Amino acid sequence: MPLPTPPTPPTPSTRWPWQRSLQVRIVVAYGGVFLVVLALLMAVVVRVVYQAQLSDAEHNLEIQAFLAANALEDPLSGYASEFEEYAKWESDHREGGESDDESEDRDQSSGDTPPAVPIAGRLQAVAALYASDTNARITILEPQGDAVADSAYPFAEVTNQFAQTEVQAALAGEEQHDIRLDEFTSRLTVYAAAPIQQRGRLLGIVQIAQPMDEVTGAIARLVLSLLAAGLLALTVTTGLGIWISRRLVQPVRALEAASLAIAQGDLSQQVPVTSADELGALARAFNRMVGELQRMIEQQRLFIANASHELRTPLTNIKLRSEALLGGLLDERAMAERYLAEIDSEADRLTRLANTLLDLSRLEDVQSPPPDAAVDVIPVLRSVAQAMQMRIGKANQKLHTELPDSLPGLRVWPEQVEAIVVNLLDNAIKFTPPGGDVRLSAQVVDGECRIRVADTGPGIPADELPLIFQRFYRVDKARSRYQNRDAIGTGAGLGLSIVAALVAQNRGRIWAENGAAGGAAFTVAFPLSQRADP
Ligand code: ADP
Repeated sequence: MPLPTPPTPPTPSTRWPWQRSLQVRIVVAYGGVFLVVLALLMAVVVRVVYQAQLSDAEHNLEIQAFLAANALEDPLSGYASEFEEYAKWESDHREGGESDDESEDRDQSSGDTPPAVPIAGRLQAVAALYASDTNARITILEPQGDAVADSAYPFAEVTNQFAQTEVQAALAGEEQHDIRLDEFTSRLTVYAAAPIQQRGRLLGIVQIAQPMDEVTGAIARLVLSLLAAGLLALTVTTGLGIWISRRLVQPVRALEAASLAIAQGDLSQQVPVTSADELGALARAFNRMVGELQRMIEQQRLFIANASHELRTPLTNIKLRSEALLGGLLDERAMAERYLAEIDSEADRLTRLANTLLDLSRLEDVQSPPPDAAVDVIPVLRSVAQAMQMRIGKANQKLHTELPDSLPGLRVWPEQVEAIVVNLLDNAIKFTPPGGDVRLSAQVVDGECRIRVADTGPGIPADELPLIFQRFYRVDKARSRYQNRDAIGTGAGLGLSIVAALVAQNRGRIWAENGAAGGAAFTVAFPLSQRADP
């Protein structure tokens, strides 16, 4: 019955459609970061430029005011007395509470009309000249703050400026500007002022004004050009973001497609490795995983094929004999007994095979912890050598042992080490011709305790050395079968698999090689660091 397909895990719910696309998220994040950086940059640039322009404009105005004041000292001084007279008339006229005498005086001298101020026209011309030079509005004030000339408006309509910050500062001999709404235009305007003095005498004040938007106009133009540049840059970055994200997402999509194909059973899938970065590493790891998966599945398939084959041979033998017995061979007693003995032997072989497979699967499934106490493996090796002497003698071979008196204690299971060595010696005896030598040695090399079983048999073909530890692997499929039924192996190519699993259980490693003078040599190495602490 085919195994049911595991259900596909549900996709996490998403609130926004773009959460479903990595590419869109990358582009949005990319664009978002760019916008934030752009906004911050613009804010900083605009602030710095605005402040620089403002202080520049203020400074300029102050300088212009002083230059104008200096230039006006001469024309004003020439007419100082008229100017003063005009100022006096002005103040009297405004107060309106003057004495009769004074009234008479004034009537005599100038009547109710203001005295002729010959400089007024000239001041107006100077103010207009400076205004066109500086592109600002110039107002000339008499010392009490009333306008006597204005470049932009009739001076009579200008309110008294005495209390304004910049006028007060000018009177105190300081430089200070002011920003306020203009009384005529209601526009935000920067004001500066400078005193007009001659020989310590205050003749008047020059007030100079420039609308703020002439300062901020440049900023607005800067912001507009920054915005245009930003928009262009955003378009370019978004395009770049789409291109980069597509390149980033492409390998992920290839991985997804390959994974889905593998889930459908197509194990031939490999994804292209297009970069040396993390995605490239992921693609390489994926391909490796698929390769490993293929290898494991192939091994499983081989295992099943081999196991079926190994089981079928004794089963066929049993079936043939039992059919013969049932078909009338029972009457021939000698033949029947032989067949029954063979059936019994095949059944034993089947049991051994099943037990070995069970042992192997148990060994490969469970990694047991090392024993608490360390053991010296030398006595174990000596007793194995002793037990093998008889079989060696029967095979007309010679066993050489090169064992030190003792070895550093190892945290290994002694009965498992014994099974390992018995199996290796058993193979050595099986494959060595009569008159040959089998050698068992042990020594400490490079922080490892190495146990070696070497023989003078035919050795193992070099290209098959890495394969002999696989389950059911036999170099010569017919050669060793049934030669020794007492060993752990079954003659079915399982002995070395069991040995390898036992070695792994004891955290060691095993390898096979061919001796320089011929013959095979198996080395089992257990690290000394596994020794128990004294
Ligand atoms: P089996 O249980 O059939 O003996 P093993 O797993 O022990 O199988 O061995 C696998 C194969 O490795 C054997 O079929 C044999 O070809 C080869 N082999 C093992 N030991 C030796 C050796 N000492 N000399 C030559 N070939 C060997």
